[in-house]
Amino acid sequence: MFGPPGAGKGTQGQTLAKDFNLYKISTGDLLRDEIKKKSVLSNKIKLKIDQGFFVSDDVINSLIEGILSSEKYHNRIVFDGYPRNLNQANALDILMKKYNQKISSVLCLKVDEEVIIKRIVGRQICSICGSIFNEFFNPATQKNHKCDSKFLQKRSDDTKKTLISRFKTYNRETLPILNHYQNQKILYEIDGKGEISEIYKEIHRIIQSLET
Ligand code: AMP
Repeated sequence: MFGPPGAGKGTQGQTLAKDFNLYKISTGDLLRDEIKKKSVLSNKIKLKIDQGFFVSDDVINSLIEGILSSEKYHNRIVFDGYPRNLNQANALDILMKKYNQKISSVLCLKVDEEVIIKRIVGRQICSICGSIFNEFFNPATQKNHKCDSKFLQKRSDDTKKTLISRFKTYNRETLPILNHYQNQKILYEIDGKGEISEIYKEIHRIIQSLET
């Protein structure tokens, strides 16, 4: 899943994984888990994230190798927020070969900056089950969320100030990767502005067309 911060990668990836029996792997989530462990790396990672900068490729590549080497995830991954630059995309190509797996498609959600700000400001994540909601567009209810509402949290980097930096980093570092995947003819661009369910219908259609 590709797209700027707040494009809906996590929300759509969550449904996609559930529907097709896949595993959503978000490098952002893996990094936030690492921060919770209070490891040697925790402070360094938190500082980068809260400034809207990228965490080093070495840290990311070693997290990803841990995932790709596991039988459990073999060819059943929806990456959310990875790869984030050309160096990571090249490292991923090498790791895919090493562990005998293949990228079937790259789905890029296109969304304007204006929509993104609203999505980011309202974003809430459940610290228990990891589900993503939005207090304006997609609020947690008793029907769509089993955990208590007290577990809904805001991310420390979901501020307007950090968002500007994250957006710039995305345009500079991440957008150029799309060419890499366009050349491999696996890039699908999706209008990510509308209703969550409408956007998902398009994603579902693309993935189903790959399976048959
Ligand atoms: P996300 O949850 O995908 O929005 O990521 C939150 C933050 O984690 C980003 O703004 C980066 O600071 C960091 N991050 C997540 N994924 C990566 C990655 N693949 N490479 C470098 N930094 C990352």
